[in-house]
Amino acid sequence: MGWLGLDDTDTVKDGCTTFSLHHLLIHLPSSVEVGELRLVRLWPFAHNRTRGNAAVAVEIKTEDENELMNFLSTYWEQTLQPLVGKIDQSNDHGRQQTPTDPGMVWYSSLPEKSNFYLDAVQREVTFDQAPKPTRSWGGGGRIGAIAAVVWPKTNITWEAIAWRMEERWKTTERKVCVQALTTVSGMDGMFLTRDPRSQRSLISPRGTCPVLFGVRGRTPEITLEAAKVLVEANDTEGVLGWRMFATNQASDDHLKQSYIGTVESVEILTRGTTVITTEHHQWLAFAESGDVKLMAQGLVLGDRIEAFGLFADANVLHIEKLRTIKKAPIRSRPTCPTCQRTLKSMGQNQGVRCPVCKHRQTQEWIEKEHDEPVGFWVQPPADARRHLARPLEWLDWPNEAT
Ligand SMILES: [Zn+2]
Repeated sequence: MGWLGLDDTDTVKDGCTTFSLHHLLIHLPSSVEVGELRLVRLWPFAHNRTRGNAAVAVEIKTEDENELMNFLSTYWEQTLQPLVGKIDQSNDHGRQQTPTDPGMVWYSSLPEKSNFYLDAVQREVTFDQAPKPTRSWGGGGRIGAIAAVVWPKTNITWEAIAWRMEERWKTTERKVCVQALTTVSGMDGMFLTRDPRSQRSLISPRGTCPVLFGVRGRTPEITLEAAKVLVEANDTEGVLGWRMFATNQASDDHLKQSYIGTVESVEILTRGTTVITTEHHQWLAFAESGDVKLMAQGLVLGDRIEAFGLFADANVLHIEKLRTIKKAPIRSRPTCPTCQRTLKSMGQNQGVRCPVCKHRQTQEWIEKEHDEPVGFWVQPPADARRHLARPLEWLDWPNEAT
């Protein structure tokens, strides 16, 4: 009994690594038994990441490890190695692509407790830092493959993925029964099935790839049931097969800690992307980030704020969750004790003076506490969150204005 890991077998088309695993599994020698499947999302800024940045692993039980190794070596040479260096030509994601560098690993038994998974989801890692596999094939993809094998499953969700018939792979159109999707959206424990505002489906990718849908749930039972409802519906197109994966999606495993800062300035860029400068770093709220962007745009000098997110480089935090801890007090000029006129500044630290009776005083400002509600967290809308992001609704945190 051991574990097989696989990564970077896709080009930029999200989800194809899952199909590679499915294809490998249906060609396995009949003597082996397939156990749990895993789908693990990794460090979103990894150097040579694929688009979805997902790696997969599977538990395989065999009485004859030699036979399995022979199969894997042949499979590697004939099916996976030819993918090396491939670049997807469609370029429909407008992102600089790195050539495919697939990797496959085998562990006869699970390695001792290791931090490699957490490292691989929180920062750049190398193959040399990983627990040594029993056998490995290929290049950079081995890193994600190992991370998927050693994932400790602290926070688990489930995703059932169905693949469409090969003749349909080139079209972006996907037929998933609308009625069945409505049923599944209403099932307790399913998440990210539809956009709560537009009702648009969130389960199907948009590009040309083998995936028909991936449907996500919080327990294996409900996820299996949801996949059956979708696959068996008359209005859903035929599938090549479907399988369920344990995943680290919605785990927040990529977030180490929160950051706290005081606002020095707020700058709004094109399409509403907002840059908050604090005493430590710049914090970035993207145009698509909904409530996060709106909260960022309402900040003023002196507001105390807290955020979770990732540093794309040493100085820029990409905000994933944001809250205001304390609003800066509202400052206004005092009024004249005699004629009630607003006092005017006489220059920095020169005090203020009444324009009518020339009364002077040193106190230049009066401060009033803000009565805006603070303390609650906001997050981007469902379709703009990372796969790894844990929905606020699942956390025991304040997420409503009080
Ligand atoms: Zn006066």
